Amino acid sequence: MSVDNYLDRLASGRSRLKDLLLQKDNRFCADCNAPDPKWASANIGVFICLKCCGVHRSLGSHISKVLSVTLDEWSDDEIDAMIEVGGNSSANSIYEAYIPEGYTKPGPDASPGQRAKFIRSKYEHQEFLKPSLRIVSGKSSIESSSSKSFLDGFRTNSTSSQNMEGMVEIIGMLKVKVIKGTNLAIRDIKSSDPYIVLNLGQQTVQTSVIQSNLNPVWNEEHMLSVPDQYGPLKLKVFDHDTFSADDVMGEADIDLQPLITSATAFGDAGMFGDMQIGKWLKSNDNALIEDSTVNIVDGKVKQEMTIKLQNVESGELDLELEWISIDQ
Ligand SMILES: [Zn+2]
Repeated sequence: MSVDNYLDRLASGRSRLKDLLLQKDNRFCADCNAPDPKWASANIGVFICLKCCGVHRSLGSHISKVLSVTLDEWSDDEIDAMIEVGGNSSANSIYEAYIPEGYTKPGPDASPGQRAKFIRSKYEHQEFLKPSLRIVSGKSSIESSSSKSFLDGFRTNSTSSQNMEGMVEIIGMLKVKVIKGTNLAIRDIKSSDPYIVLNLGQQTVQTSVIQSNLNPVWNEEHMLSVPDQYGPLKLKVFDHDTFSADDVMGEADIDLQPLITSATAFGDAGMFGDMQIGKWLKSNDNALIEDSTVNIVDGKVKQEMTIKLQNVESGELDLELEWISIDQ
């Protein structure tokens, strides 16, 4: 495919997705009716607000694959699936077909508990589905190409999310850009196949494996939701090993407090010009190589850092964090 074709396709995908988002029923969160949702569950086919997005994430991507309408790259298949479902009304006509009388859906200001309970009932346990559609395996009565994305969502393995009963309130999103590693430790004969695991609260994301490289360049972005009681972002580097358990190549804890407290203090970063708003200071008991500043850049709150990997003979990592507030 030529570059022009590729760019055309990307642009047309974006505009198809945008058209769908502008459809009237998609101007409100499918789950709580909050206005102006900026997130979507690509496999279920609904547009949702950030708070509901946090609950969807906690269900696991086998139930709901959450993407940002504005920040994530969407594949053609994901956009096609959204369009086939036809928007929030059409999805809700299935997922909320049999809401019991007297049952009230959560509103935009519902408590984390009410919100999580409803979303789990709706998608994970499929309690409001037409009874004939509740059968998970085999052929169902909504057998058509457009139902494929629904059915994919139904094939749940519900054990994995049982421990998420604790209702976590999401205060925002953290975008972590893993830029590169420098001088990483050798774990195979003369090199390593590194990848990074990022952990925040109960979420874990992983970068791709870069073969045989001690100075790998990832430039990968990963999104994590931030619970109100957040701890450090934990990062671990591993050497991918085909035949035995993966070896650890160092780790680091990243204190998110400087980023999040300065970002929340400033509120809408789009109102400010480029400026420094905070700083995470290098100390003997953290992994920083030098002080790391929090800055507003083009209306976004970002923090670049170089960290020295801990509990390993060598290795540094370059990262960039971005805070995405709950109102975006
Ligand atoms: Zn919502």
